[in-house]
Amino acid sequence: MTELRSILIIGGGTAGWLTACYLARYLDIARRRDVTITLVESPAIGTIGVGEGGFPTMRTTLQFLGIDEHTFIRKTAATFKQGIRFDHWLSAPREGRTSNFFHPFEAPLYAQDESLVARWLAQDPAKRPPFAEAVTIQQRVAAGARGPKAPGDGDYDAPLSYAYHFDAERLAAVLAARGIELGVERIDDRLLAAEAGPEGIAHLRFERTGTREADLYIDCTGLHAELIGGALAEPFVSVRRYLFTDRALACRVPYDQPSAELPSHTVAAAHEAGWLWDIALRDRRGVGCVYSSDHLDDARAHAILAAHPGVGAAGADDARLICYDPGYRARHWVGNCVAVGLAAGFVEPLEATGIVMIEAAAAMIAEFWTPNGPSDASAARFNALMIARYENLLNFLKLHYCLSRRDEPFWRTNTDLQSIPPALQELLERWRWRAPSRFDFALDSETFAFFSYQYILYGMGFKTRLPGPQAAKMTDPFAKVRAYGEQALRDLPLHRDLIDRINAT
Ligand SMILES: Cc1cc2nc3c(=O)[nH]c(=O)nc-3n(C[C@H](O)[C@H](O)[C@H](O)COP(=O)(O)OP(=O)(O)OC[C@H]3O[C@@H](n4cnc5c(N)ncnc54)[C@H](O)[C@@H]3O)c2cc1C
Repeated sequence: MTELRSILIIGGGTAGWLTACYLARYLDIARRRDVTITLVESPAIGTIGVGEGGFPTMRTTLQFLGIDEHTFIRKTAATFKQGIRFDHWLSAPREGRTSNFFHPFEAPLYAQDESLVARWLAQDPAKRPPFAEAVTIQQRVAAGARGPKAPGDGDYDAPLSYAYHFDAERLAAVLAARGIELGVERIDDRLLAAEAGPEGIAHLRFERTGTREADLYIDCTGLHAELIGGALAEPFVSVRRYLFTDRALACRVPYDQPSAELPSHTVAAAHEAGWLWDIALRDRRGVGCVYSSDHLDDARAHAILAAHPGVGAAGADDARLICYDPGYRARHWVGNCVAVGLAAGFVEPLEATGIVMIEAAAAMIAEFWTPNGPSDASAARFNALMIARYENLLNFLKLHYCLSRRDEPFWRTNTDLQSIPPALQELLERWRWRAPSRFDFALDSETFAFFSYQYILYGMGFKTRLPGPQAAKMTDPFAKVRAYGEQALRDLPLHRDLIDRINAT
């Protein structure tokens, strides 16, 4: 007879429910009797309630979980996201002059026989259009407040790559409903104590349901990190010497007019010691001020948030303060326990990568966990890949900060060589002489493709010196991008209309 194996997930935020759904679907729990998945959550403790910007991988994940796209959009008040506009990162607004650049999800378009990137680099910096505008149509589409797809396009499918903005609490609820359909048992209880043993976790003790044991424990308790940080005391690797922000004040802002234009991109607006996010959902905005407590006190952060358009003193008074230490656990999988989500690590909300890390972890656990034998060798591989992902992410996020020419202390310190990870210093040295290439990265441990590095580098005015003067060329390869962009503006619906239409079905 096959032995019964059990997976016990603690925590019902995005990490807990996404992992539960993924494993239930992958292991086909609903139709087998040898593996069970139980998720324990404590509504009294609640979830972190932020994390409202997504990444394109979410489309594949939701589709794999069997969640219909329109249902997801309706139930989570979601909108489409085509990238992030970075305001004031290169320089602070001065005498009415502002700077911004766009990081779209689309890769640069290919010209038939030459690299658009190389051609753009060869143009006169004083005359050429911004990088993202020159090499992709997505900036134009987003700036025109268009959606990335037409109403007739299939679920999760579109001519342009996209992700979503969504209400984080409602996302967890949608995933919970799907998890239960897929065979996950949900228990409402509070973890009181976790006992460590030779295998990792020996057992857990709960307030209402007493002691529980399992074959695999998944710690999704968020910043509490009850198992990995508490019972197993796995060391925490802080990256604060590289990424300085450690606090966020998050609030919700109603729209003045229900028919207001709906941006299909996140805005990340730099301020004197960090940045603000502005995310447009269907029926409200989510706004947050991220900052370094070494460079800004909470009162000043409150004032910066209050001064952001539409927030005001009342909005900022309602804001929630979230404190975190940027970093991750030295190992995420220890014996019979794996940490996923905030329990495993969190480096920065910039570029909205929390959920991507959860997706990567869930997919790897699904393939690596061996119910009939030890998983130790696979756990070592899991740890190596997850740590590499965090380190690569750290480099990518730091890139946004270390190229800034702003002169406040926070920004100056961000350009100090000691604050730039050595691996990023090496990449920057390569890119002084050529553009980022796909051969710069090992794909399995990367979240961002090489072209994302191009968008940030050239959006932030980084100089790559090409070998010599380019021969004058007659054709204008960017004309095609402009023409496609104009066509897309005619063909694609206004984002607000698209969302209204989906919600009316
Ligand atoms: C300021 C900020 C902005 C962010 N922005 C983004 C973003 O735009 N995009 C993105 O992808 N990610 C973002 N993230 C990360 C994102 O919020 C998380 O990755 C995501 O919400 C997953 O959180 P979680 O499930 O790990 O934790 P939580 O949502 O905190 O869930 C923890 C769960 O554990 C339960 N729990 C805790 N202790 C116990 C106990 N003793 N007993 C029982 N249950 C317990 C809680 O009740 C809860 O259900 C952001 C994070 C921060 C801090």
